[in-house]
Amino acid sequence: MFKEFISKVLQHNKVAIFSHLRPDGDCLGSQVALSLWLKKNGVDVSAFNEDDIAENMTWLLDYFPITKPNNPNLSDYDAFIIVDGNALHRFGKTAESALNTDKPIYIIDHHPDPDDFFEAPISKVSASSTCELIYHLYAEHDADQIDAKSARAMYLGMVTDTGSFQFDSVKPATMHAAADLLERGNFTPNEIAERIYSSRPLRQLKLLSQALDTITLHKGGKFASIIITQKMLDLTETTSEDTEGFVQYPLSVEGVQACILLREDGDRIKLSLRSQSDDIDVNKWARSFNGGGHQKAAGAYFKGTLEDAIKDVIAVGAEQL
Ligand code: 5GP
Ligand code: MN
Repeated sequence: MFKEFISKVLQHNKVAIFSHLRPDGDCLGSQVALSLWLKKNGVDVSAFNEDDIAENMTWLLDYFPITKPNNPNLSDYDAFIIVDGNALHRFGKTAESALNTDKPIYIIDHHPDPDDFFEAPISKVSASSTCELIYHLYAEHDADQIDAKSARAMYLGMVTDTGSFQFDSVKPATMHAAADLLERGNFTPNEIAERIYSSRPLRQLKLLSQALDTITLHKGGKFASIIITQKMLDLTETTSEDTEGFVQYPLSVEGVQACILLREDGDRIKLSLRSQSDDIDVNKWARSFNGGGHQKAAGAYFKGTLEDAIKDVIAVGAEQL
């Protein structure tokens, strides 16, 4: 898997890397670490994302610039790579139009059931994060190429995609990789935690307090929901980026097996689903609403009102109880 990817990708002169819409720590960390690796190995790289990057992660841009694609001439590139997503539409219009070129499109990802047209795919569902896969890419090629910047970028993605190493996707190999990054990058977990979790704007906590107040239990306490309305965002002067991580809170209620976060987003409702039970597959659940993700973390969009969304989404999830 890694050897084929490495030998093919390093033959290209100029490559564009895309991270997914509404970027998180894992896709951005992967994108930056992979860009640095390609650059180190003589490949010219552009890194694109169509959305804004949350304030607590903009330090990554000092390591490698990620820009919004401004109608780039895709025929200038020899290949494209997407990281941390299994379908091109999750990466926006520019990434989708890469399909209209005859250039290869590579993928490094840990979501189930990727599209089947990718070149030499690195796709592993059991990986805690895409950043853990990028770490193995470095390790297979030349671990000594891991430096202070790439180590921090990869560690960021591992921490954020595992709920600070709490999820059951965390294996001994995940911890070995993280430890190696700490050593090679010469930093402590605290340094990254401070950047990510201790730099929240006050407005975000005000929004959180309003959202926590909406937590409701369903189906005898097996499911929980949490709501973020446009009005709450307006009142606290926050945006959707400020809701990162909120979906974890209802899961900490005793007895809750799965939860849904519902956020008003124009005329749609953004759904985030989380499970902490092997019996509840939120990827399957989200696919009923044309979304997707992993068994324990998934998302989708719902057309309609909040009330309808709660009713319909709970009813679909209840089929798995
Ligand atoms: P989140 O709830 O944090 O937005 O996303 C959780 C997981 O579900 C992520 O791994 C993400 O890739 C996936 N996901 C979120 N929203 C969507 C969506 O609208 N469509 C698909 N296919 N996957 C999504
Ligand atoms: Mn990820």
